[in-house]
Amino acid sequence: MKIDFHTHLTRHTQEGLYTDDASPEYLVSVMSRYSIEKAVVMATFFPHQNRGSGNMKMLDLISESDRFLMFGGLDVERSMDAGIQELRSIKDSISGIKLYPGYQDFYPHEEKMSLVYRLASELGIPVAFHSGETTGEGDFPESWDIDEDNPGQYLHYQTHPSHIGEVAKRFPSLDLVICHYGQPFTKSARDVLNKHPHIYTDVSGLWKTGKDDTEKEIRVTRKALKILAHECDPSQVLFASDFPIQSIEDSIEHIESMGYSTEDKNKVYYENAKRLLRL
Ligand SMILES: [Zn+2]
Repeated sequence: MKIDFHTHLTRHTQEGLYTDDASPEYLVSVMSRYSIEKAVVMATFFPHQNRGSGNMKMLDLISESDRFLMFGGLDVERSMDAGIQELRSIKDSISGIKLYPGYQDFYPHEEKMSLVYRLASELGIPVAFHSGETTGEGDFPESWDIDEDNPGQYLHYQTHPSHIGEVAKRFPSLDLVICHYGQPFTKSARDVLNKHPHIYTDVSGLWKTGKDDTEKEIRVTRKALKILAHECDPSQVLFASDFPIQSIEDSIEHIESMGYSTEDKNKVYYENAKRLLRL
């Protein structure tokens, strides 16, 4: 049995991805094929790109199936207080909170973010962070300190896993998730995992299935995954796709390529997520 810790849903027809259908019905059909019991659906808030699927829209989308759990979100840059209030009002319907540094202008360890971490602590739910490369067309604020020497078109330091380590120091009983293994900051992600046992990483969205990943990208990703299995506790690693970006098939192949024992695979595919989500 498996739990996919990171997915997105929409009724809009997808373009340029491996599937044009990212509807709840389609995802449920794929989940059934691969013994995925539940999927975490992330609400999204990308104010600088004028896109996203907010909490209410997501709750509505997932309402017809009990196979979905939702991580709520908010725009911490422009409407923190209203966002906190909205999350509070739907507290019984969310299993976690997803934050988007790099898509919103803030650092995870900024003082103002304590509001979010205190809410999550109070509700007993984890906080997941977008981490690593950001994607999408421009219109990012010019003040952001993009590091042009790093790979990734819009990559910058707000998405660096080390900031999540700073949050962990201040909130030692809060469960935190580094999404996308922090790619390309995978070395830093491992350092943070090894220092803080209540930080997890998901391995979602490392490939863009349907886009042409170069041979080098494939090699680098596979190698980084092997090192993750080798250097970090499997209790901190979460199976996840980022559907419809990375296919479920590729996501399973990632885990299968990591050299885990059957027992460790069971943790990564299922047990860790079950524990984090209090299922
Ligand atoms: Zn995602």
